[in-house]
Amino acid sequence: MPGYSHTIERLIAELGKLPGIGPRSAERIAFYLLKSEEKDAFSLAEAIHDLKTRIRPCKLCFNIAEGELCNICADERRDRGTICVVEQPKDLLSLESTGVFRGVYHVLMGHVAPLEDIDPDDLTIAALVTRVKAGGVNEIILATNPDVAGDSTALTVARELEGTGVAITRLARGLPAGGQIEYANKSILTDAISQRRKL
Ligand SMILES: [Zn+2]
Repeated sequence: MPGYSHTIERLIAELGKLPGIGPRSAERIAFYLLKSEEKDAFSLAEAIHDLKTRIRPCKLCFNIAEGELCNICADERRDRGTICVVEQPKDLLSLESTGVFRGVYHVLMGHVAPLEDIDPDDLTIAALVTRVKAGGVNEIILATNPDVAGDSTALTVARELEGTGVAITRLARGLPAGGQIEYANKSILTDAISQRRKL
C-alpha cells in the first residue's frame, strides 16, 4: 500500500487480520471509516473496547460472562444438579437454542489434542471436578463433539470424575460422526440431549 499515511496503513493492517477480510476489503473499510461520521467510527471502537474489558469467563462454568457469573449460572430456575460439559461457548449456544436443557453447563475451553500440544491440564477439567466434589451434582452430560478429539476429551473427563459417584452420560449418536455440535440443527441436538445414554 504505497503512499498511504502510517495511520491508514496501520488500520488496514489491523482490519486485514480479521477473519474473512482480505487486503481489498480492509482497504475499503478503512476508507469508509475515514469518511464516516466521527460518532459512528468511535461507537465501533468503543464496542470493541467494551468487548475486551467487560467480557470475561464465568467464574463457575467458563461461559462468556459480563460480570462474575454468566446468564445461565445467574438464573435461579436452572437445575444445578445437571451439568452439560461442552468444548466451547459456541456449543453451549447451539444446545441452548434447542430450549430442552434446563441444567447448567461447564465449558472446557477446548479439547484434548496431543498433536496440537493441548493436554488435559490446559482445559478446565480440574474446576469441573471441584464443582462436582462440592456436592449437589447428580449427572454430568458429556457433550463434546462426536469426533476423535471430542471422544478422547469425553473419556479424559469421565476418568477424572471416577469415584465421585456422579452419573455420567454422553450425547446420543444422532449427530453425524465427525460432525460438530456448533453446526448441528436443533432437532438433531434435541434428540441427542433427550436420548443421551449412560457412559
Ligand atoms: Zn456460568
